[in-house]
Amino acid sequence: MEKKIRTAVFPGSFNPFTNGHKSIVDRALDLFDNIIIAIGFNEHKEDSGDLHSRLETIRNIYKGNDAVSVESYSGLTVDFVKDKKADAILRGVRNMQDFEYERNLADVNREIAGIETVILIAEPQYGYISSSMVRELNNFGYDISRFIP
Ligand code: ADP
Repeated sequence: MEKKIRTAVFPGSFNPFTNGHKSIVDRALDLFDNIIIAIGFNEHKEDSGDLHSRLETIRNIYKGNDAVSVESYSGLTVDFVKDKKADAILRGVRNMQDFEYERNLADVNREIAGIETVILIAEPQYGYISSSMVRELNNFGYDISRFIP
């Protein structure tokens, strides 16, 4: 019997892509054949130069790994997932707040599109890392290299 190729879409803002995000992708590579990191983008609100540098930065991290691709999308995540003929959405949770939020999203996406969400629990050493915290530290001139790949 032929083995099915399983693809997950990991959607997010990734502004910036942190060690916490990387840990989710790396661990999910044991579960899926392919991961598409998908930067959700609002063309009315965001600067496209910013999006391009985010795309390039993440692509560089996975350069040489054919199982990981990096793309951007605007619109509904489930439409992007269907477009790519992917099998599942991948997300991470750090705490109960994340959990409540992710459960709602997962319920909606299953309801409207029949798409399941696979949730990985953050590794403890990354549980406190958020993009907004990293952005804030960066804005105040703090060296953020320990939080990003
Ligand atoms: P969004 O704006 O969609 O929440 P983020 O880029 O903030 O996008 O996060 C993308 C996904 O990664 C979310 O499921 C989020 O919960 C998860 N995530 C964020 N930071 C971490 C972390 N430190 N460890 C594990 N998962 C994380």
